[in-house]
Amino acid sequence: MVGGGAAKPVEPGPHAGTSSAGGSQGGAGGRKLRQLSELDVSVLSGVGPAVQAELAQLGIGSVLDLLTHYPRRYVDGTRLVHIAEVVPGDSVSVLAEVTRVKSAGPGYGRGRRRSPSRVVAEVADGTGTMSVVFFNQPWRSKQLVAGTLTLLFGEAGTYGGSLQMIGPTAEVLRLAGSDPNPTGGPPVGRVYPVYPLSERTRLTSARIGRFVEEALDRAGTFADPLATARRDLLGLVDRTTAFNGIHRPAHLDEVPPARRRLAFDELFRLQLSLVLRQHRLQADSHGLRHVVARADGTPTLLERFLDGLPFRATAAQMRAIEEIRSDLAGPLPMHRLLQGDVGAGKTVVALAALLVAVEGGHQGAFMAPTEVLAEQHAASIVSLVSCLGAPDQAPPVAGRPPRVELLTAKTPTRERARIHAGLLDGTVDLLVGTHALLTDQVSFRSLGAVVIDEQHRFGVEQRAALRAKGRGGDGLGHDPDLLVMTATPIPRTAAMVVFGDLDRTVIDQLPPGRQPVTTRWARTPLDAEEAWARVRSEVADGHRAFVVCPLVEGSPRVEATSVVAEAERLAGSELRGISVGLLHGQMPAAEKERVMDGFRQGRYAVLVATTVVEVGVDVPEATVMVIEDADRFGIAQLHQLRGRVGRGSSPSWCYLLSAVDTPESAARLGAVERSGDGFELAEVDLALRGEGTILGARQKGRSDLRLARLLVDRDLVVEARETAEEIVSSDPGLAEHGLLAEELALFVGAEEAEYLFKS
Ligand code: ADP
Ligand code: MG
Repeated sequence: MVGGGAAKPVEPGPHAGTSSAGGSQGGAGGRKLRQLSELDVSVLSGVGPAVQAELAQLGIGSVLDLLTHYPRRYVDGTRLVHIAEVVPGDSVSVLAEVTRVKSAGPGYGRGRRRSPSRVVAEVADGTGTMSVVFFNQPWRSKQLVAGTLTLLFGEAGTYGGSLQMIGPTAEVLRLAGSDPNPTGGPPVGRVYPVYPLSERTRLTSARIGRFVEEALDRAGTFADPLATARRDLLGLVDRTTAFNGIHRPAHLDEVPPARRRLAFDELFRLQLSLVLRQHRLQADSHGLRHVVARADGTPTLLERFLDGLPFRATAAQMRAIEEIRSDLAGPLPMHRLLQGDVGAGKTVVALAALLVAVEGGHQGAFMAPTEVLAEQHAASIVSLVSCLGAPDQAPPVAGRPPRVELLTAKTPTRERARIHAGLLDGTVDLLVGTHALLTDQVSFRSLGAVVIDEQHRFGVEQRAALRAKGRGGDGLGHDPDLLVMTATPIPRTAAMVVFGDLDRTVIDQLPPGRQPVTTRWARTPLDAEEAWARVRSEVADGHRAFVVCPLVEGSPRVEATSVVAEAERLAGSELRGISVGLLHGQMPAAEKERVMDGFRQGRYAVLVATTVVEVGVDVPEATVMVIEDADRFGIAQLHQLRGRVGRGSSPSWCYLLSAVDTPESAARLGAVERSGDGFELAEVDLALRGEGTILGARQKGRSDLRLARLLVDRDLVVEARETAEEIVSSDPGLAEHGLLAEELALFVGAEEAEYLFKS
């Protein structure tokens, strides 16, 4: 049935047949992506129910799906060589038919040496024959049955006087005995796209290519949501050229501009939805204009706070505070992400924001992901604002110093009731806590600003839930200003994609006097002994040390057991005679607090812990961090853990214990050993792991980036962002950009679109 049957009724486009489409005008005329999304692949000749099912396996249902199923690479058929012309030693592409295939092994050869399995295919192209050998790919014997037309690429050699290729890349162009190619001979002399396939289908790349060709022919000219002038400005080809260039380039040179255009479209749609969302939030908002200066010229609470700090805020902290202050002074609620490496001093900046709210008679909330962190923040905030209540100073607000309360899951009921009452009558100015802040009973008299620490530990809904407390039960209140913080730096362009609906401030400087942390990857037992010796000598000098135990697969219970065992082992060996505290997630809260306290005050010189110490724990006396089985941790986590030391003014060390020396772990541990810069490490992390992890949280459904790559397309991300901002600022409802709006709706889904375009 392939190629048979009458053409199904789809009107041919004006552009049918050509591949470079240089003359396309774009604009409103032409084929729209929405139309293609509504056409089932079964409209294409050769796509009956069976093929349709196979395409579905590849996630292809509509013609649009087919056209966005991009080639994974290309074989340059213009460089094909006949077998008779192959010179041993050259890397060549050969198109040939399999004449015979046999397989052997695996088995044991002489001397009981294990020999790998082997598949040998004889191929011929009319000018000569060659044998092709694959080791350890037994499935090749089923793939390359006699009669299969295959495109081989690899280095030619000789064996016993005849030509041979070992382990070439082999693409099946035509299956044996089926799948005839009615449109003529093999695609010699042109560029051949290689499509991603699934092992579960019998579809070949060539066959998908033919469906794509038909789809492109019948689609003709594509409508282009980008005006010619804008395309020229951005150096982008039109969409018709792009789709044709990526699927059937006449020459390999056509691929990069085509890819660039299509990748731009992906990033542009994403940025457009983020910018619209940002715009929407502002349009819907009911913000507060905070008071950032006093009419009588006397110093504000913020100014007195900065004056009273036991240190001078760094220039970077001051810049951040200024940006936040101007957000707060404006009518729209702030949505800002504060990034700063571990130890950069984000807490002071966050507190500054909260104090501006307090100055105007509003309240501030500070939410942290763990009890340990919340307690620590509460304690440091109390001490940082204590200067504001000094008797020789004018009272800040309503004649009293700011009152700070801590609310966590373990706050006793009576205490909790007291705090709830204080929040309602406005006598509590600053509330610090965990998820407990989100419970229904927590209502504020007037919530003016919200800070969320380590925002990646919270979901978007939790962020929204805390903000919503500003509106109050009757919904008549206002939207508080929001600052979210993270010490997990991500590269700028990645941030544009992941946090594209937030403004962004970076604290790019550490407080002065910080000693860099000397980091060593301890590979051998001797190296490890050096680490333990360092712990002992630092403890002898009155400093403290962390030992982080390996992540244990399985339940938190299993992990806890293993930490307990390791603490006991250390106390009886490497750390004999030293007071060792133990901290893990399974301990009762009171016990955790007791241990943290003991460590802060020096009753324990060493804290053996799971990664519960990962974020934010601030003990300036700690100078050594030992991370066991360091290869089990990611770069970001290692950097976070290392950030627990080097917080005071004494030199500090971090030891990464790991004997695992695979290229992968060497890349990670080596990077952490070499660099102390969180942003640099974030780049390395991105390069090593790819962007999937970063994007994981954000991406869903159609908006998946198929071609765009954060690492290589940085300029495109920025250009897409700028273009989106420009368009939204002049046309926030996209009323004059109908095609764009339609396309966006297609990719973000109807519900989101309705929200974004609501006027
Ligand atoms: P992070 O950005 O990791 O949250 P913190 O806010 O916990 O950092 O600050 C780390 C430590 O540095 C704290 O002990 C804090 O008091 C101190 N600190 C903050 N800013 C400065 C500064 N400008 N000069 C000196 N020490 C500072
Ligand atoms: Mg912090």
